[in-house]
Amino acid sequence: MKPSPFLYRAPTTLKRALDDLAECAEEGGKVLAGGQSLIPMLNYRLVRPPVLVDIGNVAELSERTFNDPSFSLGATTTTGWIARSPAVRDAWPLLSAAASWVGHVQIRSRGTIGGSVVHADPSAEIAAAMVLADARITLRSVRGGRVENAGDFFTGYLSTAIEEDEILTRLDFEVPNAGGRWGFEEFAPRHGDFAEAGAALTLPAEGAQERGRAVAFGVADRPFRLPSLETLLTASTERVARGAFDEAVGNDFDAIGTVTSEKRAMGGHMVARALGAAGVVVD
Ligand SMILES: Cc1cc2nc3c(=O)[nH]c(=O)nc-3n(C[C@H](O)[C@H](O)[C@H](O)COP(=O)(O)OP(=O)(O)OC[C@H]3O[C@@H](n4cnc5c(N)ncnc54)[C@H](O)[C@@H]3O)c2cc1C
Repeated sequence: MKPSPFLYRAPTTLKRALDDLAECAEEGGKVLAGGQSLIPMLNYRLVRPPVLVDIGNVAELSERTFNDPSFSLGATTTTGWIARSPAVRDAWPLLSAAASWVGHVQIRSRGTIGGSVVHADPSAEIAAAMVLADARITLRSVRGGRVENAGDFFTGYLSTAIEEDEILTRLDFEVPNAGGRWGFEEFAPRHGDFAEAGAALTLPAEGAQERGRAVAFGVADRPFRLPSLETLLTASTERVARGAFDEAVGNDFDAIGTVTSEKRAMGGHMVARALGAAGVVVD
């Protein structure tokens, strides 16, 4: 199929992009970033926006800064750039691993982190990493700007707290448990397919007093933290008893609500595998 007709805007400044979006948002106008999710939806006529505001030429949206352990990534940073960047690999190897699981090279070379977060597929690896880091998500509109935490941003299946006239401009975060062990695992029928279930987790660096962090994705309608499991994860954790693991992960899956028994089994398995990758045995 072909998309229904639309007007195409290609602003080169953020101000102009916000003005363009404000003009058409009420009638269903949309932001176009990498187009890797939006273009297929247009082609299937699942959405029929009268106007597309292409943000690909807005230089302000591709700015990136690293102040180890803090990151600031502009919305149009591509997943491919993240997967290849030596700076990202050094500062937060888990994020490089997450990005390398996204689709195929063609998709990663166009798809953006802003698009991935706003599209909010429950299996999206970048969104899961942002929840793990509890990234601060900057949203701008002609009405002003605001910041949402990633933990509150995802509200359901393909749903977020973004308003129709807002543009996600930037993601800011600190590397969780910097310098500590980590694991990222997902199950997909083939590498590059959307994950059926996945998990990412970090353990504190040696000597650090904080707790570990863990997130599951592709399991419920959105990525979510596993706070009960996190209480078991310290810098010195090398083993988690199977009973304690099942109870903690079971509690965390219950808390998010909509988890089928199949996803529960697959998700639990992915969490255990991610722990294994981080050097923690579940037995
Ligand atoms: C075959 C295939 C396999 C894929 N596999 C995976 C996978 O394994 N894992 C995965 O995570 N993704 C996967 N994807 C999706 C891909 O990662 C997309 O790139 C991503 O979901 C959307 O990013 P985009 O930049 O292409 O956004 P677009 O498609 O341009 O936009 C997506 C949505 O976000 C909105 N939007 C985009 N940017 C902004 C912004 N800055 N502010 C406000 N709204 C915005 C758009 O209006 C639209 O509603 C796959 C896609 C395909 C086609």
